[in-house]
Amino acid sequence: MLYMKGLALMAKKSILRIGNHLSSSKGYLAMGEEALSLDANVFAFFTRNPRGGKAKDIDDDDVKSFLAFAKKNKIGPLVAHAPYTLNPCAAKEDLRKFARETMADDLDRLERTPGNYYNFHPGSHVGQGADIGIELCAALLNAVLKEEQHTTVLIETMAGKGSEIGRTFEEVRAIYDKVELKSHVGVCLDTCHIWDGGYDVRDHLDDVIDEFDSVVGIEKLKAIHLNDSMNVLGAHKDRHQKIGEGNIGLDALARVINHPKLKNLPFILETPNEHDGYAKEIKTLRGLYKG
Ligand code: FE
Ligand code: FE
Ligand code: ZN
Repeated sequence: MLYMKGLALMAKKSILRIGNHLSSSKGYLAMGEEALSLDANVFAFFTRNPRGGKAKDIDDDDVKSFLAFAKKNKIGPLVAHAPYTLNPCAAKEDLRKFARETMADDLDRLERTPGNYYNFHPGSHVGQGADIGIELCAALLNAVLKEEQHTTVLIETMAGKGSEIGRTFEEVRAIYDKVELKSHVGVCLDTCHIWDGGYDVRDHLDDVIDEFDSVVGIEKLKAIHLNDSMNVLGAHKDRHQKIGEGNIGLDALARVINHPKLKNLPFILETPNEHDGYAKEIKTLRGLYKG
């Protein structure tokens, strides 16, 4: 009887869903294989050149092989990242049009790999003020989201560098509130960004998560960008550091992956690493995960 109870408890243990940002230049299957070689079971990638530009054509065979590979190796969800150049709340209409068309095209392409995430930076208001920025960002989402899509779009929490919006949980919530198709929108929390934004995830993680929950709602949180930071708390700079080598530190990041309200989310490393560095960080974090 006790033995059976032990088994039941063991079955409840969850597996850490962790991976990193991968190059999409060789296609989906290559990303899946690279993830597996890193002991990653989730991953992120740019939908096109991070500086914008035209996306490569999607190869049907590649997608098909990838989907089978991902299923077999339990890889997913994918957290695709919109290019950095996309500014949903630019002051100039032609820049907003570029952002709209790019996101619409990305969402179209992501229908080939349904059921995943697409995160984007809500943008910089460039002097128009945060309220207008929030308005324009929500307007872009309302222009591109479609009832029938199978991708959840994630608003990323930002460091508040320059005139970035999404620098507080209140601003993220304000964008969300103005979106019509709410079931297709969620939030991606970046540990480096919120630390740089002034949220003390190192010494007051529980308070920060409680605040996120009361302002945004924890059920809207769909992914974590797990990064250390080169900056001090509240620096509003956004410079990622390797896990354990920055001001947040390994102990605090271990608390993030083990937090009861976070531990089942996909964690994406966007740390300044190549293959071996990522493999090492994934191994370290798996070792610190309590399930
Ligand atoms: Fe990002
Ligand atoms: Fe990020
Ligand atoms: Zn960043």
